Amino acid sequence: MAEIREAIENLKQLLQREERLGYTNAACFGGFSSHFLSCLAELENFSLDKADALVILKYLAALISEYPKLLMPERRETLHKISAALDSLSQLGGEAGALVCTNKKAKTPPLPVGKIGPQAAVHALKQVGPNRAKILARLGIKTLGELIYHFPRRYEDRSKIKKIAELQPGEIETFCGSVLNVEELKPRRRLTIIKATIGDATGQAQAVWFNQPYLKRQLSKGVNVLVTGKVERKFFQSEVAVHDFEVLDGSDLIHAGRIVPVYPATERLPQKTIRQIIYRALEDYLAVFPEQLPVELLEKYKFLSRSEALRAIHFPPDWKTLNEARRRLVYEELFFLQLKLIANKKVVEQKKPGIAHQGPNPRVEEFCRRLPYPLTGAQKKVINEILLDMESSQPMSRLVQGDVGSGKTVVAMVALLKAVDSGFQGALMAPTEILAEQHYLNLRQLLTPLDVRVALLTGSLPKKAKEELLTRIAAGQVDIVVGTHALLQENVRFKTLSLAVTDEQHRFGVMQRSVLQEKGLNPDVLVMTATPIPRTLALTLYGDLDLSVIDELPPGRKPVLTRYIPESKRNDAYLFIKEEIERGRQAYIVCPLVDESEAIEAEAATKLAAYLQEKIFPEYRVGLLHGRMSSQEKEDVMNDFRDNSIKILVATTVIEVGVNVPNATIMLIEGVERFGLAQLHQLRGRIGRGEHKSYCFLMGNLKSDEAKARVKILVSCSDGFVIAEEDLNLRGPGEFFGTRQHGLPELKIADLIKDAPILERARQDAFTMLKKYPTLVNQSQTLRI
Ligand code: ADP
Ligand code: MG
Repeated sequence: MAEIREAIENLKQLLQREERLGYTNAACFGGFSSHFLSCLAELENFSLDKADALVILKYLAALISEYPKLLMPERRETLHKISAALDSLSQLGGEAGALVCTNKKAKTPPLPVGKIGPQAAVHALKQVGPNRAKILARLGIKTLGELIYHFPRRYEDRSKIKKIAELQPGEIETFCGSVLNVEELKPRRRLTIIKATIGDATGQAQAVWFNQPYLKRQLSKGVNVLVTGKVERKFFQSEVAVHDFEVLDGSDLIHAGRIVPVYPATERLPQKTIRQIIYRALEDYLAVFPEQLPVELLEKYKFLSRSEALRAIHFPPDWKTLNEARRRLVYEELFFLQLKLIANKKVVEQKKPGIAHQGPNPRVEEFCRRLPYPLTGAQKKVINEILLDMESSQPMSRLVQGDVGSGKTVVAMVALLKAVDSGFQGALMAPTEILAEQHYLNLRQLLTPLDVRVALLTGSLPKKAKEELLTRIAAGQVDIVVGTHALLQENVRFKTLSLAVTDEQHRFGVMQRSVLQEKGLNPDVLVMTATPIPRTLALTLYGDLDLSVIDELPPGRKPVLTRYIPESKRNDAYLFIKEEIERGRQAYIVCPLVDESEAIEAEAATKLAAYLQEKIFPEYRVGLLHGRMSSQEKEDVMNDFRDNSIKILVATTVIEVGVNVPNATIMLIEGVERFGLAQLHQLRGRIGRGEHKSYCFLMGNLKSDEAKARVKILVSCSDGFVIAEEDLNLRGPGEFFGTRQHGLPELKIADLIKDAPILERARQDAFTMLKKYPTLVNQSQTLRI
């Protein structure tokens, strides 16, 4: 009995909703009237031993079938009749035994999903032909799963339906009524206007469409339409430039009368089309996307089910449900991302044991004794973490994060020496030739006395020398190989690689990291990054790594004095540079960033260097460094700069990472507006590396607010972590690393800034769940979409 009452109650609520929505047949997903009809059919499954009840049901079915064909005012009346009929039905039920439930299978059967799965090609869908499949592919949509996970970019609220008399000029409004008259105008060539007079009980309005003559066929007299558009007042009437409209034929309301999704789309795929495609796909194939989050998480966070969330993210019944849907889908995305990262790490750990670096450490000890400075507390802490990892037989995967100048190189050297002490080989990979070479020179100088054989491998090594080196590496006659990407090539084989270090990891993709890993005997992996990656990004990029942070600078570092210099003070800046050079210091002058090509950038740098040499600093040697120079040329220039025979180095961003010349104390950056915040911080990190006070001058055009904001942060702040957070806020994660390959996974819905708290929770949950359900490891590879 209670069940029947409940069913009737539900129907009444449906009625109220339909009333609130202005009789648009939009009260539920799939159209109010058709849904109502199927609910009635369910009621018929209860055998009714009073003929009266059957009659009422028949009557109700007739009313509701007529409903979509009615004009608005008539719809209101019909709803009242339906409501009254439902009341009588429930009174019948009140008399004992009037309605007896004999049929348990009252639920409608599941959708005919057939053989289609999330991986099915989109052209398997009825509404997608070869043409549309091609256009969808351009949006990155090839499968049903990708289609359903193609989420709206934003939404338009077209659920508030106004009476025609209430339309406000200047607003975008939604209203409905029936078409009273249609005309087609051609005021000039190539301009067709369709004008329809639309009326409801409160008045009339003109709806206007431009250059869509084919619409005339749909807009015949008497048809009910729902229109959204911009309202203007003309001749005492509202005229509405139509953005979207829908004919109310009793079928589903997709484009109006609801909160309407707006998708990332292309020109050749109108919003209406993609909306329709996704709507149909949801109707037919939601069952293809079963729940995949563990039940305890669903309960813990009170999440919507997966299908509810997917439905609501596309066609939300209201804003609150939309938020709920988003909350669940963001969590789901981040949870499976973390699960995958952690699972990968686990798989690596379980597959084969790594190398346990054991035995005495004569070289490590000797090296530390010889260091001209004591290690900072943070360096010691991180070195200990690394040595512990290396001694254990579990393979190490550790990320060392430390601000520019925090002294990561020494840490890497100690780790490399530990490998050599244990009788193995180590590799150190850097993203640029300049940096690789600097590391090589540095290591050779410090380690040759310790009887360690160091070699440099870059792409520009002559063929013969390279082959010779490769043979020596393979034979184990080299202990530490420093290099660029060249290290990743197939022909590079080690005899006993047990430690792979990558410097400035953010410059490499995630794939490259694993390539180096595969070259050894499941070697320990250490990655270092000077770009202080905010914690949220680090978790996403490096969720599979353990984290060590060098959160302390070597003592005696004075913060770099940073100032913005207006063009009118340029000469003062040059004078200041001269004075510093007279005191024995050196300067960098950084050229504006050129996005178009390295060649144009190189040309500009060359011109600037020539100009400065000739006109401004004739008495000092000015050097030039850019990406187009040969390795030999770069090497020569860097050597002369290190020797202090070049006083002023004009450079492009090739000096951004790693370059270490402590005697250089001034940096003048031209075109500051073109650089990102994190990049400027990196550049500035080239100075302030020694005992002398350093100065950074920013020049350029500060017209844009963003440039102003960046300069302000840079002038007032020297903490790389704070700066990186600010940068992320200003630019968003996609651009955080500029155009470079950054290895960030593509997220469909989560936002790494806004959703940072969810990310943290998802990561913790992923750890817990994986412990509880080890099989999630396998699932994590196949689930999602
Ligand atoms: P980064 O972390 O940016 O790679 P480097 O390893 O290049 O930093 O170190 C920056 C400078 O600091 C180098 O000149 C290095 O010799 C020096 N340095 C490193 N550790 C210490 C320390 N504990 N005390 C003093 N100077 C140090
Ligand atoms: Mg470094």
